[in-house]
Amino acid sequence: MDKVDTIIVGAGVIGLAIGARLSQFQKNVLLIDKNSSFGEETSSRNSEVIHAGIYYPQQSLKAELCVAGKNKLYEYCEQRHIPYKRLGKLLVAHNEDEEEYLQQTIEQAKRNGVNDLILLTEKQLTKLEPALSATSALHSPSTGIIDVHSYMQSLLAEMDSYNAMFVAQTKLLQAESNTEGFVVTLDSQGEISQLQCQQLINCAGLHSQKVANNIEGLSSQYIPQLHWCRGHYFSYSGKSPFSQLIYPVPKDNGLGIHASLDIGGQLKFGPDTLYVDELVYGVAAELKPKFVQAIQQYFPSLDPERLQPAYSGIRPKLQAKHDTFKDFVIQDQHVHGLKGLINLFGIDSPGLTSSLLIAERVVAKII
Ligand SMILES: Cc1cc2nc3c(=O)[nH]c(=O)nc-3n(C[C@H](O)[C@H](O)[C@H](O)COP(=O)(O)OP(=O)(O)OC[C@H]3O[C@@H](n4cnc5c(N)ncnc54)[C@H](O)[C@@H]3O)c2cc1C
Repeated sequence: MDKVDTIIVGAGVIGLAIGARLSQFQKNVLLIDKNSSFGEETSSRNSEVIHAGIYYPQQSLKAELCVAGKNKLYEYCEQRHIPYKRLGKLLVAHNEDEEEYLQQTIEQAKRNGVNDLILLTEKQLTKLEPALSATSALHSPSTGIIDVHSYMQSLLAEMDSYNAMFVAQTKLLQAESNTEGFVVTLDSQGEISQLQCQQLINCAGLHSQKVANNIEGLSSQYIPQLHWCRGHYFSYSGKSPFSQLIYPVPKDNGLGIHASLDIGGQLKFGPDTLYVDELVYGVAAELKPKFVQAIQQYFPSLDPERLQPAYSGIRPKLQAKHDTFKDFVIQDQHVHGLKGLINLFGIDSPGLTSSLLIAERVVAKII
């Protein structure tokens, strides 16, 4: 049977970042994905925002890895010529309760090590963003946007330069632990094969729980329940009225229907939150009135005719609809007892921002 050092299951930003880092230390790293290319699921269906890390509870992995990950990602973009823009963001308030939330956010951000938030008055906002309606806002200068596809291509090129392999259209069917690690059964377009590896990394995003269930010997008590939560986007035709990202106060387990720009300057609004049972994408035109209402809170002169259904993405959430905060889960043998296995569960937002730090954290468990 052929042998490799490590098999990484899932070529989204997380698997690619782990592959790029691990291949600097190991000779035989194999990254597989069941789809026909890398990054075809959540990693290409998100807001492409580099988050500042201001909301997450102190000492959570999300806070720690987002704040450090943001800095690392900006450096990486600079070094490897990946298109990005540090546009900044405004978190906007419309009443006393929301203004109170802004105050709390300043304190939360400080606890997370983010000390650059600036509170702006209505008058200052009118000057800065004339189309915006808000009584006050927090300006976060370290929030930005990134071209995720270029980022993923760069990670893949890095892996390639260290002779790691990426194989598409290859699905992990099951894994069995033995004294040397794992025997993994793969399905490559109907051709079934087996490979021996020492380490197995499960970063299969929306399917991480399914992959974990197919690892013999892994007790189900270590597989947390996953909830799929779809978020829809509408694009805006015409020139963006905003020069930075505009966020309402977060609600409903999401960051609220915000306005974000992509690298080409295209303005889009979203995502909302809808818990779903099926992995079906698409944006129903009937969602438009809800979007118009939410957007007009901070952009009253919005012409609804300019909004078009664009795309959707599905969050792999550990947080059920009415749950409180749930953190990223990165599990190794100290948790589940299976030597060589690392499982990643619930890598929803800010997973993109945190990806390089998540990769560092995972690789540190191996080398
Ligand atoms: C609507 C939305 C907006 C978001 N906005 C942001 C944002 O602005 N900023 C931010 O930081 N984060 C954001 N996120 C979160 C971010 O997109 C994710 O954290 C990140 O993309 C997760 O990457 P991943 O590699 O874990 O998962 P994925 O990209 O889903 O990759 C997992 C891969 O595993 C593969 N796979 C699954 N099962 C198998 C198998 N059995 N065998 C082989 N391959 C398999 C899949 O085909 C897939 O390609 C957002 C997410 C959503 C849904």
